[in-house]
Amino acid sequence: MRRRLGGRASHRRAALRELRADFRALFDLLPRHRIRKSPILVPTVIAAAIVLMLAFNPQRRQAIESLRGILPFLAPANVARWIPLTPRGVVPTGFASATLWSFALVAIARMASTPALRAHWRLSVFGGITLLMLIAFGAVFWATTLQVLLANQWTNGRGQGMALLAFLFCYVAWAFHSLRFWFGDLQRRCPVCLRQLGMPEVRGNAHDVLLAPLETETVCLHGHGLNLESHWGRVFAPDDLRF
Ligand SMILES: [Zn+2]
Repeated sequence: MRRRLGGRASHRRAALRELRADFRALFDLLPRHRIRKSPILVPTVIAAAIVLMLAFNPQRRQAIESLRGILPFLAPANVARWIPLTPRGVVPTGFASATLWSFALVAIARMASTPALRAHWRLSVFGGITLLMLIAFGAVFWATTLQVLLANQWTNGRGQGMALLAFLFCYVAWAFHSLRFWFGDLQRRCPVCLRQLGMPEVRGNAHDVLLAPLETETVCLHGHGLNLESHWGRVFAPDDLRF
């Protein structure tokens, strides 16, 4: 007579758990930490977002033609009709162009006026590349959303106007937050390997200015040095003179 000692599936699950071969253990094995701190994560995410927006856009030719208007020193294309957009027409880009380039100027001025960024050319190059990618993302995002908003005349004309106005505000807010994110991200990176610094240690007192000011010390987890940040500024002390 055969006696069953529990289901085969539950035994298999228990065995996999013991061997640490179940999904949870495999998920823990993923180099999540390394990916999160990697210098290519931010540019890759932005590039993927641009590619996805263009790939899922049935009228991507119209969007790409509209992007010409955002490039500096080129006259924006003539927009024949706003609502609904004529099929071969392009979306108006004046607002996006003004927003993106004024934020780019602010970003460049900030980069030039920060000694820690001026001193490390790798950080400046990385900052320049991510800034350009953010501008490209902003341009594609603008063209795609306006295509959706202006494609047809809504039955509720006032609703369409309000939606456009809300989008303008959201766009400026997005640009402002991207600028803050971009600058904060640059300041959290090791100037040698461009990975994010880790193991923050806060010491000092928020009320002291000279004797023990509040400062945060972070280190590059790959041993390139330590970074000291206080309200006096940011100093990176390299560990090895080879770098
Ligand atoms: Zn490093």
